[in-house]
Amino acid sequence: MLGQMQEWTMRITHVIDHAAREAGDREIVTRWADGSETRTDWKGIRTDALKMAQALQALGIRKGDRVASLAMNHSRHLVSWYGVAGMGGVLHTVNPRLFEDQLEYIVNHAEDKVMLYDAAFQPIIDKMREKWTTVEHYICYDSGEQSQSFEDWIGAQDGDFEWVTGAETDPCMICYTSGTTGNPKGVQYEHRSTLMHALAGLQPAAFNFSASSVMLPVVPMFHAASWGLPYAGAMAGIKFVFSAVNDPAVLHQLLIDEGVTDSAGVPTVWLAHFQYCDKEGIDLPPLKAATIGGSACPRFMIERLMKNGTRVQHAWGMTETSPIGTVGGPTWDWDQLSFEEKVDKTAMQGRPVFGVELRTVSLDDMVTELPRDGESSGALQIRGPWIIKRYFKAEQDAVGNDGWFDTGDVGIIHPDGTLQLTDRTKDVIKSGGEWISSVELENAACGHPAVAEAACVGMPHPKWDERPVLFVVKKEGQEVEAETIVNFLSDKVAKWWLPDAVEFVDDIPHTATGKISKKDLRDRFADYKLEA
Ligand code: AMP
Repeated sequence: MLGQMQEWTMRITHVIDHAAREAGDREIVTRWADGSETRTDWKGIRTDALKMAQALQALGIRKGDRVASLAMNHSRHLVSWYGVAGMGGVLHTVNPRLFEDQLEYIVNHAEDKVMLYDAAFQPIIDKMREKWTTVEHYICYDSGEQSQSFEDWIGAQDGDFEWVTGAETDPCMICYTSGTTGNPKGVQYEHRSTLMHALAGLQPAAFNFSASSVMLPVVPMFHAASWGLPYAGAMAGIKFVFSAVNDPAVLHQLLIDEGVTDSAGVPTVWLAHFQYCDKEGIDLPPLKAATIGGSACPRFMIERLMKNGTRVQHAWGMTETSPIGTVGGPTWDWDQLSFEEKVDKTAMQGRPVFGVELRTVSLDDMVTELPRDGESSGALQIRGPWIIKRYFKAEQDAVGNDGWFDTGDVGIIHPDGTLQLTDRTKDVIKSGGEWISSVELENAACGHPAVAEAACVGMPHPKWDERPVLFVVKKEGQEVEAETIVNFLSDKVAKWWLPDAVEFVDDIPHTATGKISKKDLRDRFADYKLEA
């Protein structure tokens, strides 16, 4: 006999229906690229999403079709998240910072039929239009000069529309990985996986939203589903403040003027904010919580935000994991920890939210499971209902026979479940059979006052197979010798980890998502030789 509860299909439409019904007049504020500001609310977002769903059907878009967006954070983009899913379509959020060949590849690979874009990206559209073979309709989120404007397009509809129904496992969104090797890969999220992921994001150990939360997400809506915030925020009925530009001065003013309590972004966002406040001689905004992830959050950043009274939620995840894997909320013993201990703990990547499981396996055989002892470092694997099984259009699963997905990250799991990331599998350095963390060397080097950025790669060595070489960009106007850097590192890492060479460079290559591209760095120094 089955249980006897009501049927309820997990679809995204429930999320927007709930937000409009229970928090209908909670504001959604947008500061646009031209400096203007608009205000709507959850009821308004739902009404526009219904009109958009109708408008998409009128264009001939059908269930399962992909609709692309090339846009920053704003209310019309939010409408599209719900409008596309509401008519059974799949929203493909395109990262405008991708390189031209990647943009060409992903739009054609996803077979996007509609392209919704910000006027600021008109030059990209002009360049790519000929190359995108499947896009039939272009709609501009701003007042369109080259294309129909979004407001006119949805304005022609009356909003009398029934959400399209279907299976929980229907796709609703597709995001592509930034692809440091080969072509980017598509990750298709389902209605069910997205809904469960958003629920997980609401846990106090994660975003910790309440009805009074006011969130300004700096993480772009095109990066890893904006960490699920547009859904989790709707579930909790929070106020959203969006900025279509990432200028720290604009963000700062919005944070103050709109009474923002929560924000989320990659570390570089906060770095820019610190610099802005220092230059202006003003205080950091009085945020209650900042979720930081995408790359490791440096210790000094955590310290400064915590001293400002801001709770730092250091999160780890990837496009393939929807993206939340772990988040660093306060542990049970938090109040007993010293300030230093709290900072140390927050500098790690947090603990898994309910729904995902983590394990580490030996880097030598990629099979033997390692103990959660806070010491053993290995390949990080993950499984759960919002973790990828297979890439879009791939012929084979992306997980092993036992259902675990190998993240390509290297980490340590502590006895209390805290994850500490130490490297990427491709970047960890094998010297004389032992592993050296390139990331730890980089982080330590970044603590030197003359170092602006550092990247460490393993270079071929005649005796040890590989030895670390540190590439350093000096801060403007600063002078420093290689030997000084090595001396500086000597009490921070094991002696045998110390780099064999420190090379000063003008710049370090980055990927489209702003991460250090070690592949490009290795290519640049392909002929590099270390002496025995
Ligand atoms: P993406 O799919 O572009 O979001 O990239 C995911 C990758 O970013 C992960 O596999 C990690 O290597 C890295 N990453 C994400 N969050 C963190 C974090 N908190 N600390 C260190 N690395 C991170």
